[in-house]
Amino acid sequence: MKSLYPAYHFIPTGHIIRCQVCNHPRLRLILDLGYQPLSDTLLSKTMLFMPEKTYPLRMMWCPKCTVVQLDYCVDGKEVYHPDYPYRPGITQELVTYQEGMSRSLKEKYRLTPNSLVVDIGSNDGTLLKGFQKLGIRVLGVEPTNIAKIARANGIPTIREFFTVNIAHTIRKRYGPASLIVTTNTFAHMQTIGEFIAGAHALLTPDGVFVNETHYLLDIVKGGQFDSMYHEHLRTYTLRALIKLFKPYDFTITDVERGERYGGNIRMHATKGKKRHVHASVAALLALEKKAGLGTYATFEQFASRVKRARVAFMDFLIAAKKKGKLVVGDACPARSVTLLNCFGVDKELLPYITEQPTSLKLNKYLPGKHIPIVNNERLIREQPDYVVLLAWHLANPIMKRLKARGLTSDFIIPLPDFHIIENKDVS
Ligand SMILES: [Zn+2]
Repeated sequence: MKSLYPAYHFIPTGHIIRCQVCNHPRLRLILDLGYQPLSDTLLSKTMLFMPEKTYPLRMMWCPKCTVVQLDYCVDGKEVYHPDYPYRPGITQELVTYQEGMSRSLKEKYRLTPNSLVVDIGSNDGTLLKGFQKLGIRVLGVEPTNIAKIARANGIPTIREFFTVNIAHTIRKRYGPASLIVTTNTFAHMQTIGEFIAGAHALLTPDGVFVNETHYLLDIVKGGQFDSMYHEHLRTYTLRALIKLFKPYDFTITDVERGERYGGNIRMHATKGKKRHVHASVAALLALEKKAGLGTYATFEQFASRVKRARVAFMDFLIAAKKKGKLVVGDACPARSVTLLNCFGVDKELLPYITEQPTSLKLNKYLPGKHIPIVNNERLIREQPDYVVLLAWHLANPIMKRLKARGLTSDFIIPLPDFHIIENKDVS
């Protein structure tokens, strides 16, 4: 029997030598970030007394298909452990964003109450909730314990890793899907071939696979080196996505850009070859070329900018420490683990990081540097001199919200270029 996907679309655990997308043998190094812990394995108090695992973290670039990738893959079972903490439902921005996404896709693909929408990596079911409110049948596929939260919220959810076999099981039980969506998963998985072949098996003949993932153009322009962590095996360009889907019976028919994850790409792949392709595809390919994503020099400049930002940030922290100023961190997204560990910031320089009162991360510790994560009510109580925005890609709404709650501290934006925003200038 003909294999459903190329062997190189399964990424084995360990050192990766060839391009994960196109199998090109010569990857080029952009940044070597040393050994780093897993960014979503926050530590409990007892774990502080045990050894902590680290893995190589190197940002590489493929000159052939332009995808940025890591050259070490941690076993997915270690990364997506049962207590994996991410929950999109808790931030209002994401809820609003995902409701917009479900409305837009319903109109674009004329979904009806008979249509089935499947979200793979559905997390707590927030995105599907949007489709459900529009009267469409939904099903989530989510490998972690968060599946339970989704079910409790009324979203039918299968707790499994998505495979071709699971796709066939779903099809038998629920019928074919008109639309498969996946958000913030495509960078992560080792089983890319299994995933795309499974999506193909589950879709109706005219079905569409919509995949939203963070976007290399935004990462490069925004100096977002902190989006490199072990979960993000690949950061795509459109050119790389087209290359990725080439061996499959899909056509990339449309593409959109958005703001989520500090800049994302929403790619639409319609089942079948030679489909009508929207002008957005050629336009974005041209933009990528113009932005230099096909040239190594672009990535050398990116690396230099990161190194400058680090020196400026560390200079500031040490100077503030000498003057006796209190500098703390706000928000503990996965990217903060890369930022603080790679820059070398410990609890002497940043004694705590705050999270909102509903966060599952409270009372845990930052991997690597062991900085405690505390309730953000402490910010209002202590009014530190400076608050470093570790979710700096969402700086404006966060600063406004904290100021509205009575915070008088000034804000530090660590990337892409270090700068200070005075509290009086936040409006
Ligand atoms: Zn490649």
